[in-house]
Amino acid sequence: ADAQNNARKQGKLDAKTTHEDSAVAVKKYEKGLDVWIQDEALVWVQATVVGTMKDGRIIVRVGPGQDSVVWVKGGYPQLCGENNFVETEDLTRLNPLTEPAVLHCIHERYKQGEYYTTAGITLVAVNPFSTVPSLYSLAKIHLYSTAQPQDVKELPPHVFAVAQQAFGNLSRGLGSQAIIVSGESGAGKTWTARCLMRYLATTSAGKRLPGQRTPTSIVKIEKRILDSNPILEAFGNAGTVRNHNSSRFGKFIQLQFNRSYHLVGASIQTYLLEKTRVVHQAQGERNYHIFYQLYHGISDEERELLGLGGEEEEYQFEWLPTDESQNDRDEDWSSFAITRQAMTSLGIGKCQQQEIFRLLSAILHLGNIVFNSDAHDDGCPCTIEEDDQRCQQSLRVVCSLLGVNEDALGRCLTYRRITAVPGRRKSVFMKPCKPDECVARRDCLAKLLYARLFDWLVDIINKNICGEQAEWKTFIGLLDVYGFESFPENSLEQLCINYANEKLQQHFVHHFLRAQQEEYEEEMIPWNYCQFVDNKDCLELIEGKISIFALVNEECRLNRPSDSQQLADRIHSTLGESRHIFRPKSIHGQAAFTVHHYADRVTYQVHGIMEKNKDAVPEELVELITQSGNKFVSSLVGDMVVMGDTTSKKGRTARTVVSKFKASLDKLMHTLESTSPHYIRCIKPNVQSRPGVFDRRHVERQLQACGVLETVNISRLSYPTRLAYPAFLERYGIIMRTAADQATSSRSSVSSLSSLSDENLDTENMDPQDLLRRKNLVAGGTPGTPGRR
Ligand code: ADP
Ligand code: MG
Repeated sequence: ADAQNNARKQGKLDAKTTHEDSAVAVKKYEKGLDVWIQDEALVWVQATVVGTMKDGRIIVRVGPGQDSVVWVKGGYPQLCGENNFVETEDLTRLNPLTEPAVLHCIHERYKQGEYYTTAGITLVAVNPFSTVPSLYSLAKIHLYSTAQPQDVKELPPHVFAVAQQAFGNLSRGLGSQAIIVSGESGAGKTWTARCLMRYLATTSAGKRLPGQRTPTSIVKIEKRILDSNPILEAFGNAGTVRNHNSSRFGKFIQLQFNRSYHLVGASIQTYLLEKTRVVHQAQGERNYHIFYQLYHGISDEERELLGLGGEEEEYQFEWLPTDESQNDRDEDWSSFAITRQAMTSLGIGKCQQQEIFRLLSAILHLGNIVFNSDAHDDGCPCTIEEDDQRCQQSLRVVCSLLGVNEDALGRCLTYRRITAVPGRRKSVFMKPCKPDECVARRDCLAKLLYARLFDWLVDIINKNICGEQAEWKTFIGLLDVYGFESFPENSLEQLCINYANEKLQQHFVHHFLRAQQEEYEEEMIPWNYCQFVDNKDCLELIEGKISIFALVNEECRLNRPSDSQQLADRIHSTLGESRHIFRPKSIHGQAAFTVHHYADRVTYQVHGIMEKNKDAVPEELVELITQSGNKFVSSLVGDMVVMGDTTSKKGRTARTVVSKFKASLDKLMHTLESTSPHYIRCIKPNVQSRPGVFDRRHVERQLQACGVLETVNISRLSYPTRLAYPAFLERYGIIMRTAADQATSSRSSVSSLSSLSDENLDTENMDPQDLLRRKNLVAGGTPGTPGRR
């Protein structure tokens, strides 16, 4: 351990030395010691050592009569220590700090109804999946908002504590703050972000002198800011198999404060709305809430006007799948009232609301338009199905609502324009589309309209809630973005999401190391920057000059027929040197690549990536909409640049999805750099979204994916055990020879105590249990196996 300590001090610690030393450590495992061993279902279980074998294996007893021989992965078993897990509110205080202890602690606290646990600079929030009224009561808000800055940390861990720390820092002149909320779908990110917003809106309004009234303008702005939530959730959230109210976009909201730390405005930036959902809903999933709200919430007169059927007839829409477990007419009805009220509050008048509803209805009807594929089989161009009554009716409704001509729409959906430039003369001709191309064009139109509507809404909201630049000085940013994703099939969406998480992880690690460095300096402990925990290389692989993004973009710019295998080969041959990418083992001959992210390895299918990256909209469709007789509709696409239109300058400069995403993320990171960050990691205790069920394996995976375990590992590479001086003396003072040794200040006593070597310890007079405990502490303090890097 000494050699290791020295190595660590010189920054030389690497996986090899740790592993060799741990083999030595195995021999130290004495009978009676409590250790963690791996278990299929429970991940880790506690066991007691009953013996050691020559080859390093140990014999452990899990329960009466349950002895087993185990090889302990990673070199040596992790010690249990003597934690009182329920009372350990901060994971970094676990002694020893190990992955099993972290999982166990969160589980024990969950059983006691403690859903929040601190982990150094992060808050771990486990979703209770049931309303715990006392947890978010006004009394709780009062408790946190009236605490003195130095006392907030002493209060039980809570989202309000994080919000209060951020607000406290801000109001002490420490500049802008950011609260980064992450976690998998259904873990509680949006709930948490909403809680934070409500807390900050409430407390910042209350922070004024007694007798001073809250100016009406401030009350109004607070209400408007909170009203942005139901609108964005109606248009951007949907029921999925993971979460009945899943946000299908990322969001960064900046709450703006003036010199007196009053909330005076906000601005919202959204990321990567999942457009495909409008035209395709997987089994058991729903379209965006707003469609159902409209369908069930609209009055009968409006129904007719919007072409959603009369009082008697109920229209069936292809893009409005009904899932009995998730459908609730009454809820849709009341949510629609809330959405409308919120729109009004945000300056979206009745007329504009009607325009929005007309557009939504048009989109639903688009989904009922089908094409005659027989015609194509006979060698004739495809047409919109004439024999299908529902289709014909929908066609009429779409045209009337969108303000376009039936023939023009039909032609746009069934023919594509081809521009050829043979020699110098440009010639344009129309080519009939195959049935699946017609469907793709129809879907493309619907996605375009919906995505543009969503952006328009965000713009309007921003115009109505953003404070004057001169008015606000600092902000608290709340980031609610999708967590790390790894599905059986992963595509461009997952690559972007995981890239964003990789960026946030880098930001976190830098901040975490900086915070640790400050703490070490304060304690006068030598500090070495742990280089190898940085994920710079992986980010370089994804976004660098020569990277996956660069290769995908280049392929898109060449504008040749996409060939997945060719792109996959180029990715492997150009980037194969990186230790973060490799060829997937079994992917049934598909073109794919595997990226080793900080959280896990993810295999991405190349097929479809280029199309998604171009996100090309045929210019004929854009023209059709631009020329619409409906001003609202035409204004939505007014400034559009069409990608893939190589004949126009605009088309050549149009940016790909990854370029735009990278740019928006760079901007976000730049903003985050100017703040003091706070982190909340949301954990979903089970996949069924049930209260009272804690699936240890599922939780362990999330602790890994959100970087909590990585943080534990980094902590273990430095000094994982933290004890306050008096606690240390109380525990180990017994081994000092004289009481006089303990009489001096705790700090110097601890330093003389810890400099005692084994030879001059008073071991003979010690209680064997105490000796074991001391060894336990020393072994627990030994750095563990480093993270995967
Ligand atoms: P995410 O945004 O991470 O996908 P949500 O915030 O939408 O997840 O949470 C999913 C569901 O879990 C919510 O609809 C709510 O029912 C429940 N939930 C989340 N956090 C809490 C909480 N703190 N208390 C009670 N229920 C919660
Ligand atoms: Mg969400």
